[in-house]
Amino acid sequence: MDIQSVGVIGAGQMGNGIAHVFALAGYDVLMTDVSKEALEKALDLIEKNLDRQVSREKITSSERDAALNRIETTLALSDLGQTDLVIEAATERETVKTAIFEDLVPHLKPTTILTSNTSSISITRLASRTDRPEKFMGFHFMNPVPIMQLVELIRGIATDEPTYKALYDVVEKLGKTSATAEDFPAFIVNRILMPMINEAVYTLYEGVGSVSSIDSAMKLGTNHPMGPLELADFIGLDTCLAIMNVLHEGLADTKYRPCPLLTKYVEAGWLGRKSQRGFYDYRGETPVPTR
Ligand code: NAD
Repeated sequence: MDIQSVGVIGAGQMGNGIAHVFALAGYDVLMTDVSKEALEKALDLIEKNLDRQVSREKITSSERDAALNRIETTLALSDLGQTDLVIEAATERETVKTAIFEDLVPHLKPTTILTSNTSSISITRLASRTDRPEKFMGFHFMNPVPIMQLVELIRGIATDEPTYKALYDVVEKLGKTSATAEDFPAFIVNRILMPMINEAVYTLYEGVGSVSSIDSAMKLGTNHPMGPLELADFIGLDTCLAIMNVLHEGLADTKYRPCPLLTKYVEAGWLGRKSQRGFYDYRGETPVPTR
């Protein structure tokens, strides 16, 4: 399977990072979103992030220019039909993702590999809504994509070996490292990470510690580079809640119940960095804890 062109669906935090690393590795990238503003914002951000890599001498200015030239955007999902590999990185909601795949399938060439960057939703179930479950996989990048080394590869029940091998090789070409996970709720990274973040929110909810004491305790006490609440804001509290709900429903164990305080923040629209407020308020010069 010769992969040269890549379609990216969703130009949010993950989509722009995915477009960035594929373009830099020499793939032609076509990115789409329902929001024109999101596409414009993503292109600006990719340019800024590539500039930063040039100033840190990680890449040359001609590599930056070549990467930018390889990225195109479109508002029409059907335009992605002719790409060799599609990576869906839209909002973490199963109805959104299945609607995308159902709209896209009639426009796809027979050889295109379909993937989802979902953090938690069943790959087997998403694949079953397409015409090619054997060419469907979970392709889970970490945030921020240009910096994080890991990509989780998740096979659905029907995924064939050539598809797995093709994605394994793509990860190598990106200069990243893959870890293979079975298709169970939230796979490996989020099965372990999200209950820790959720427990940090319970620790706050029950008044065991303040936002700053919880984050300091985990940074200095366990050598984590970011505290769990700071990390939750970075990931997006809506995404964290969606993943906890998938774990809770998918594994039917009360130990995964989302903390009511996490739900309350999401209901308030306090989604973390992307909405300027979460466990910290980011509207001033330095982040200020909101509790
Ligand atoms: P985000 O909210 O930053 O971006 C989502 C984007 O999807 C938005 O720009 C939105 O306009 C777009 N979108 C919504 N519906 C769409 C549709 N029908 N067609 C095209 N675009 C659509 O979210 P994100 O953090 O980038 O997360 C995207 C995916 O990546 C989710 O599945 C999430 O679980 C996964 N993920 C997130 C992280 C993280 O740390 N945030 C890490 C790994 C994986």
